[in-house]
Order: sequence, then structure tokens, then C-alpha cells
Amino acid sequence: MPRPNESEETFEDWVYPESRAQNRISKKALEFYERNYGFKRPLNVLCSSSFLKKWRSAGEIEKRLLSVLGKKAVVWATNCVLQELGGGGYEGKVYSCDHQSTTGKSCLHQIAKQESSKHLFATDNTYFGKTLLKLAGVPVILLQRRALMLKKPSGAQRAFAKERKAARMAEAEAQPKEG
Ligand SMILES: [Zn+2]
Repeated sequence: MPRPNESEETFEDWVYPESRAQNRISKKALEFYERNYGFKRPLNVLCSSSFLKKWRSAGEIEKRLLSVLGKKAVVWATNCVLQELGGGGYEGKVYSCDHQSTTGKSCLHQIAKQESSKHLFATDNTYFGKTLLKLAGVPVILLQRRALMLKKPSGAQRAFAKERKAARMAEAEAQPKEG
């Protein structure tokens, strides 16, 4: 049996800064994107270079994302982001984006604009996160004061999802019924 002090230390070691309430918000946000925009497991997360610099490894991020989202997530960096990192021992997956000398942020923004991309975007830049959240169906993971969270969908994203749902229902009603 470990002494109380020892077990407490071990416990502290894997406790993340996110509160349960914060993780509930992240998981609820994820449900929204799954339901309305068809996100599936494993979740693919494109990371900005400044975000990646805050961690020791891609594996560390994936472990933490599993705790925050409750689902398996895979970490990706684009060619442009890797260029910004300047090597730096990144060992996660690489997304071939075919850009020629584009900044990491502009690269990620361009990918986010393609609605079919089905990626989550991780950043530590609040302003950039807000920019991405203006796009329909783009989930944003923000690292802020050491806490990692999937942001609540924006008003625009909710409105767009509602519109799409209404359009689908109208389409279904317009179908001639057999029998
Ligand atoms: Zn790129």
C-alpha cells in the first residue's frame, strides 16, 4: 500500500488543469459538431505552430485531448506549420497542403474554409480562434492559461446548422411518398 503522501503525488501527476465543468463544455461542443457537421472518430486535429511549441510531444497532446474530449484524437501539422516550427522534432502526422511559402495561420485558415475538411483546429491564439469560429462547422480547440478546451460553437455556426437542418427537412417533405 502506498503511503497517503505518495498516492497523492501520483494523483497530482495526471490531474490536468481543466475542471470537470470545462470538460463538460468541450464534450457538449463536440456533440454539436458530430450531430450537425458529421465529425467522426478518430478526430483529426490540425495544430498551429505556436500551439505545438507549448508541448513536449504530439503524444502528450493526444493524451490530453482524450481527457478533454473523451474521444480519440490524432494530432496533425501541415507543411506550412512544420516550416514555421523549423523541424524541432515534431513526431505527429503531417498533412500535405501543397502551399508555397504561406504562414501557418493563413494555411490553416484556407483549409478551414473548405467545408469538407472535417478537421478540428488547435491554437493558443484567442483572436485566431475567433476568426475560425466564424466559419460554418469548424471546431476550435483553444489552449489558454494552461487549460485546453473545445470552444462552444459560435452563434453563426448554430444558425447555419439550424438552416441546414430546416433545408433537409423541407427536402424530405418535398419527396413524393410511395404507397
Ligand atoms: Zn499550407
